[in-house]
Amino acid sequence: MLKKILDNKACAKCQLCCIFERYEVWETPVFTEEIKNKLLKLRPDTKFISKDGGYIFRVEKLDEGQLFSCPALDKQKGCILGDEKPFDCRIWPYRIMNIEGRRAITISNICGELFNRPLSELVSFLKDGLADKIFAYADSHPEIIKEYDEMYPVLLMEKK
Ligand code: SF4
Repeated sequence: MLKKILDNKACAKCQLCCIFERYEVWETPVFTEEIKNKLLKLRPDTKFISKDGGYIFRVEKLDEGQLFSCPALDKQKGCILGDEKPFDCRIWPYRIMNIEGRRAITISNICGELFNRPLSELVSFLKDGLADKIFAYADSHPEIIKEYDEMYPVLLMEKK
């Protein structure tokens, strides 16, 4: 979904958004039933829990400095789900968050590849159709909406 602005090769090399520290477990992607089942066929040991109509990984308690690597990540090839990865991953580092009852699109600073682009470029890409797609998906899958985290700059608020 971000192919126009995000180079696949840069993502395959970086993989930061697929590996989580204990403070980032809330950031793991939300799966639909269909994508969860696809991953379970490829990685049968993966543990999920249901959440608000979707599924997230069941992550055992992590110690300080310990990392959780997404079961779909192949360190050599990247994501084994290819183009069928969860919506969260397809729009990363954009995020949809709830700010006092209003939906907003924010951006994570973990993705240096996009975060360092001019703000105008990041917003213009959203206004070019991506924001509509994100809001439409969130209408049918509200489980992807995270509570606002002030570490995430707000790029666009939904119109009232
Ligand atoms: S599903 Fe794929 S893209 Fe998403 S976090 Fe896991 S490995 Fe990364």
